[in-house]
This record gives sequence, C-alpha cells and structure tokens, in this order.
Amino acid sequence: MVRTQIAERGIRDKATLQAMRAVPRHLFVPPHLAGSAYEDQPLPLGYGQTISQPYIVAFMTELIRPKATQKILEIGSGSGYQAAVLAEIVKQVYMIEIVPELGNASRERLQKQGYRNVQVRVADGYDGWPEQAPFDAIVVTAAADYIPTPLIRQLKDGGRMVIPVGAPFLVQTLMLVEKDKGKVKTTSLLPVQFVPFRRSP
Ligand code: SAH
Repeated sequence: MVRTQIAERGIRDKATLQAMRAVPRHLFVPPHLAGSAYEDQPLPLGYGQTISQPYIVAFMTELIRPKATQKILEIGSGSGYQAAVLAEIVKQVYMIEIVPELGNASRERLQKQGYRNVQVRVADGYDGWPEQAPFDAIVVTAAADYIPTPLIRQLKDGGRMVIPVGAPFLVQTLMLVEKDKGKVKTTSLLPVQFVPFRRSP
C-alpha cells in the first residue's frame, strides 16, 4: 500500500520503492497505532518524537541515491524505520539517537527483524561518528538551526546529505548538501516539519 502511495507521489528510484515495500512499518510504530502504520502520515513514538510519514522517508532515501556499496550515517534514529529502509539497500548504516530509550529500543527492534548491517549509538549526533567517517551519505531526521560542521566534514567527496534546517516547531526547509571536490553546495527542496535537533547538555 505504501508503495502505491509513494509511487503516485513521484518516487521513481527502484531500490527505494522496493525497500519501502520490504520494511514492515507496523512493527516500528507503537502497537496501538499499528492500524494506521500504512497511512501516509507521521505518527507519535513517545518521548515527544515522531516517525516521519512514508512519503518523506522515501523522498529522503531517493535523494541520497542509495547504492549497495555505501556506508550511511543517520542522525535521529527514533523508531529505526528510516534506518531499516536504508539498510535494505546499502551496505552499512550507522545511526545516532540522543534519547537512550529510543536508541536502545530501535537497536533491539532492528536486531529482532534481522537487520545485521545497522549500528546504533546513543549520543548527540551533532559530532557525527568520526571513527567511521567518511560517509557516502548522511540523513538527518531532526531539524537543526544550521548544518552541523562536523557532519559536513564527515561527508565523502561526491557525497550527499539531506537535512531539515530551520527554527524548531515552525516550518523548516529540507536541504540537500552536496560535496564536490571540497566545495559544498546546498539546495532548498521543500517545506517540512521535523522535531527539533537537540543538543546534549
Ligand atoms: N527517523 C526516525 C524519526 C526521527 S524523529 C524514524 O524513522 O522513526 C527525530 C529523532 O531525532 C528523535 O528520535 C530525536 O530524539 C532525535 N534527535 C534529536 N536531536 C538529536 C541529536 N542531536 N542527535 C541524535 N538524535 C537526535
């Protein structure tokens, strides 16, 4: 069902469509909301956080041009759903979540579902994951006031980052960041609403 909806809305990348069809979204939302899991809407995850609507997950996935050989960093794992979609396609996903309960639950959930190519770290994602850098792509799923410099540094040359930028609780802009021969180019794509990118105290 999700696949039909997102194909209708213009998602064309075959690998992205296949991954969206493969991941059982109902296992990533709180049990009492499982009945709504395949509607194209965000849903609450607890701890004031949300799982993005399927269309946005597909849009962000397609945008980074995921490939089987790649190593990807995701900031803001939440339920682990976006990471699972990426893990269906790419070689290795590293994800960072600032809320320990969500990070630990998503680690367990992904393991249970047999995803062996995802590693979860509970930390402030602002600093990225220097030990594993550089990344072919970085996906940020919380809205930051500006693009964290460590993340730009940890992007491979030729790499792509997608990140919502703007004031918390208002409409933000989904930005594409491309690194090409050391130069950084940013493109505004569409208005979005994500939960705030928090900083650890
Ligand atoms: N991609 C998720 C939804 C993300 S909601 C999914 O598929 O379910 C945004 C997540 O970002 C929340 O879980 C929030 O706790 C987390 N977050 C916010 N600021 C963060 C930071 N600085 N570092 C890591 N995670 C952060």
